[in-house]
Amino acid sequence: MTVRIYNLGMRISDIGEFGLIERLSLIVNGDLIGDDCAVVEIQGSKLLLTTDALVEGVHFLKDSGPESIGWKAVSVNVSDIVAGGGRPMWILISLILPDIKVSFVERIYEGISSACKFYDCRVAGGNVSKGEALIIDVFALGKTSRPVGRGGAEPGDLLFVSGTLGDSRAGLELLKEDRKSYEPYELALIERHTRPTARIDYANHISKYAGASIDISDGLLLDAEHLAKRSGVRLEIDSSRLPISEELKRFCAERGKDPIEYALRGGEDYQLLFCHREKDMNPFLDMTVIGKVSEGTGVFVDGDRMGGGFSHF
Ligand SMILES: [Mg+2]
Repeated sequence: MTVRIYNLGMRISDIGEFGLIERLSLIVNGDLIGDDCAVVEIQGSKLLLTTDALVEGVHFLKDSGPESIGWKAVSVNVSDIVAGGGRPMWILISLILPDIKVSFVERIYEGISSACKFYDCRVAGGNVSKGEALIIDVFALGKTSRPVGRGGAEPGDLLFVSGTLGDSRAGLELLKEDRKSYEPYELALIERHTRPTARIDYANHISKYAGASIDISDGLLLDAEHLAKRSGVRLEIDSSRLPISEELKRFCAERGKDPIEYALRGGEDYQLLFCHREKDMNPFLDMTVIGKVSEGTGVFVDGDRMGGGFSHF
């Protein structure tokens, strides 16, 4: 029996989201914990399990469109399944609801339904409970022929990201300006925040070629840190290679901001960070080489050791 010492004065903000997860993993002997998905094998089938909740005020603003809330709740879970090298099959949904209009909840489910059609998975059930704030907690089950975790990066691999980075954070900042009208490029950024698309088009590529993979939910630097730590390698990022959209370039140019900063630390892009050998690059996917994997520890940008990105606490 292990004797656990409880520090009664300590709060979650003292140790952060990831410090808390480490402590809780110890309690349940969590050697299955630490990747985007848990992998379980049942009679020869490799299944991926993941869960992620959206909380009003933390992950979406109170007046977000209900359809986009539903879409996003499914997408963030599918994103983890894809990062694990799989495709989603079934999802369960727990709703925690204040006494709001039925039509609002139905519209959330319209968003859930269209996301499920897009990702080719099905809602298999769920649960409703009363609460103070609106929370949508999704559990997703997927399958894969070859699971991919965060721990398989090897020196000599190149480091890739899908799509463009930093758009979601710019979109959130625009939403918070709460203006009556927005320009088309601004609306494009807002859409990347409110209605992110999980990169289901990468499912085969990740499962076939990636040594390690993670979805970028907390910002490139922080997620790269997780991958580097679990793989026991150093990740070297070249900031001049970071893929930045035309919309984000314009957003930053008009406000005197640095798009590199958005790409490195912005959260909720739900793009993929993964690595493999150069020969396995796929020219038909929007993947960009942003650096390389080498021996050592930590994440380096242009040669400098970096700290993390976004944390909820
Ligand atoms: Mg993830």
